[in-house]
Amino acid sequence: MERRVTRERADEATDARRRVPRTDAVLGDPRLAEAVRRLGPGVVKTAVRQAQQRARDGTIPPEQVRDTALALLPPTVGGLRPVINATGVLLHTNLGRAPLSPAARRAVQEAAGAADVELDLPTGVRARRGRTALAALCGRVPSAGAAHVVNNGAAALVLAATALAAGKDIVISRGEMVEIGDGFRLPDLLVSTGARLREVGTTNRTTAADYAAAIGPDTGFVLKVHPSNFRITGFTRAAGTGELAALGVPVVVDIGSGLLAPHPLLPEEPDAQGQLAAGAALVTASGDKLLGGPQCGLLLGAEPVVRTVSRHPLARALRVDKLTLAALEATLTGPDTPTAAALAADPAGLMRRAEQLASALGAHGIDVRAVGSAATVGGGGAPGVTLPSAALSLPEPYAAALRTGPVPVVGRLEAGRCLLDLRAVPPRDDERLAEAVRAAAGR
Ligand SMILES: *Cc1c(COP(=O)(O)O)cnc(C)c1O
Repeated sequence: MERRVTRERADEATDARRRVPRTDAVLGDPRLAEAVRRLGPGVVKTAVRQAQQRARDGTIPPEQVRDTALALLPPTVGGLRPVINATGVLLHTNLGRAPLSPAARRAVQEAAGAADVELDLPTGVRARRGRTALAALCGRVPSAGAAHVVNNGAAALVLAATALAAGKDIVISRGEMVEIGDGFRLPDLLVSTGARLREVGTTNRTTAADYAAAIGPDTGFVLKVHPSNFRITGFTRAAGTGELAALGVPVVVDIGSGLLAPHPLLPEEPDAQGQLAAGAALVTASGDKLLGGPQCGLLLGAEPVVRTVSRHPLARALRVDKLTLAALEATLTGPDTPTAAALAADPAGLMRRAEQLASALGAHGIDVRAVGSAATVGGGGAPGVTLPSAALSLPEPYAAALRTGPVPVVGRLEAGRCLLDLRAVPPRDDERLAEAVRAAAGR
């Protein structure tokens, strides 16, 4: 009796395997044919093979191969996976720093085809690359006579050092010899250009007189680097840009985070307008930190200095593409960036969102609480500043389940709990976040 049942089951399984549709038959489905045009044949065939395998295993009936293959298709080919940043670190380097605004994303999409990047359409004559983005940048920083854009903040510094100080001295405080992350050190980067570093002062104290004593005929410029990822406190002293500008040599200031004007919540963070007004000849910064734009490096300053830098042969090797120019211009001229919104978010509002999410998820039997949290700017900006925030607190195993779910969510572990901090999560993502938590609870 038992043996007969086993044989019947085996026969059924063989029958199901025989009924698994062949690949070309599955690909004849108009929905999958459309997917081949959109995603390419390789991706679609892989999904079909996976679906056929499930039918052979008996996980799905053979009639469901087409629908299963469709469900297995990725939304786009290749590329990086979008994630929800619930770390509470606004500019998370591992998550690509600043998220682009919807306006900047649309601008990137538009520029992705052929675009007037170096052509003046009314006259049909070749035009300066990035002219509208550069004009927008100068428009936001009235004390800048001109601007130039390169691939990132480090490239801006390399270009400045090469064009203004190769074979000469860069005078820099010992308190500002910074490692920017992943083992890269600004002093090494500067020396790689052929400039010499003239270190002055001490780790905690450097005065204008220290700089003055080191300045001579070999000086290319004085460099001030904003200690953007650490703080020295206690018995400290640093010379201001105004004092240094009075020494008679160009002062270059690497402000790091790309604030164009002072930010009321970040009074310690230097801004381009303020530094140029104080007498800096050139300011360098990143586009994807507090500016909230695409990865790029900004150089702002007096027109002759910017011209020297932008006409140097190395500038050609560091130039940005049209996608970056489009995103930068939209960031500068469009509505507030997600970074600005996250910085300005009201803690009481964040707590209300956390409580709403916690009560909705609690109703599904999930062990979740709304808790107060402390967010940070991150990404090399405003070290030591904490921003009051609110989070969902979940059992620790949620961290891995959320990271590997269909919509990956990256939170942070604190005291044995997985915290999902809402400050860097745009409110319109709350529903997706809740869905991801429900999916993680079920796995
Ligand atoms: C981040 C940073 C850099 C490097 O900028 P990237 O855009 O990451 O290349 C250089 N200097 C300072 C002070 C920074 O904060």
